Amino acid sequence: MAQINDHFLKLQAGYLFPEIGRRVAAYAQAHPQHKIIRMGIGDVTEPLPPAVIQAMHAAVDEMGSRESFRGYGPEQGYEFLRQAIAQHDYAARGCAISADEIFVSDGSKCDCANILDIFGDKVRVAITDPVYPVYIDTNVMAGHTGPIDATGRYADVEYLPVREENNFEVPLPRQPVDLIYLCFPNNPTGMVASRETLTAWVEYAQQTGAVILFDAAYEAYITDPSIPHSIYEIPGADKVAIEFRSFSKTAGFTGTRCAWIVVPQALEGRASNGDAVSLHRLWSRRHSTKFNGVPYIIQKGAEAVYSPEGQAQVRELIAFYLENARLLREGLSQLGWRCFGAVNAPYLWLKTPGQTTSWEFFDQLLSQAHVVGTPGSGFGPAGEGYFRLSAFNSRQNTVEAIARIQDKFRS
Ligand SMILES: *Cc1c(COP(=O)(O)O)cnc(C)c1O
Repeated sequence: MAQINDHFLKLQAGYLFPEIGRRVAAYAQAHPQHKIIRMGIGDVTEPLPPAVIQAMHAAVDEMGSRESFRGYGPEQGYEFLRQAIAQHDYAARGCAISADEIFVSDGSKCDCANILDIFGDKVRVAITDPVYPVYIDTNVMAGHTGPIDATGRYADVEYLPVREENNFEVPLPRQPVDLIYLCFPNNPTGMVASRETLTAWVEYAQQTGAVILFDAAYEAYITDPSIPHSIYEIPGADKVAIEFRSFSKTAGFTGTRCAWIVVPQALEGRASNGDAVSLHRLWSRRHSTKFNGVPYIIQKGAEAVYSPEGQAQVRELIAFYLENARLLREGLSQLGWRCFGAVNAPYLWLKTPGQTTSWEFFDQLLSQAHVVGTPGSGFGPAGEGYFRLSAFNSRQNTVEAIARIQDKFRS
């Protein structure tokens, strides 16, 4: 028998979303008369913007004629899309990020995982708790951690517990690390980072030589004009940070698949012989060796997000979800529940009422209001006693879910 990657055996059994699915399916089977409203998984619900659809239709036609047919494209992404990103998402915000520092991909989930290819196999990582589970699980697979303990923490990981007492601010690592994962606006807590907070992180990385992996998948939901959308709005960040961005939550591309990663030319790592090495060069090699590019049709759809019509349609889409978020936050606050996020993010993070655990609250919400959410403990031990509700839903479902919860939980 072939040898396997033993690190996979360290992964915690029963991943969060399958367990939710199992409980919901069991409940639905036992109670077929109840209409269940799903506010658990972070997936968009509204269709693609018309400008995107139009551009993709035109691109399909191009592929259908010999004159305009295209085979393999550039692995890094078509110039037209990388230029549009550099212009609208970076130059327009005063960030000196050029099109050749942008790599178009089929998703931030894959990028967050794949980036580990270019770092050493002994890197020490700092990860917030609670967190997007992909960061931790991919580090377990890569062998960067020891086994999991009874509290649900892996050995050799620098956990950065994010707590309500500290206003959900991420604490600095207590020991030196190589990689720091930051996600703002945050999934699951919906919290954002101020310019001062991000500046402190960039300075910390400059002083310690750590690389920040900055996930800004929810950047488009920022409503507060003082909050940076990109880490490169902080001077010097191009020497210490890699940024992950995605069309998934911005333009409804969760099923269409298009994202990008920024690896600045100025960013360096250290080889075992002590030499400084360009991380851009390594990533370029990695990306072009293991990836053959996002489909032309999809990249044309993504480009259309930046057209004037596309921009207007995307703004409307985001405003729609943010209004759901506002309704959720207001409606559940009326019950006296402590609610966080849902202002610059499509997620409401709430403290479960009384002493209920996250999973107890999950079962109560399902059986009493027939509403599905995500237990905070599924995002890490520090998420215990919290619960995530998503604003990705129709207005009708959102309003109905709030009414049911208010009805059943009003004391
Ligand atoms: C949804 C999400 C992404 C986007 O992933 P894609 O693979 O681009 O769809 C990235 N990071 C976080 C934290 C997310 O919630």
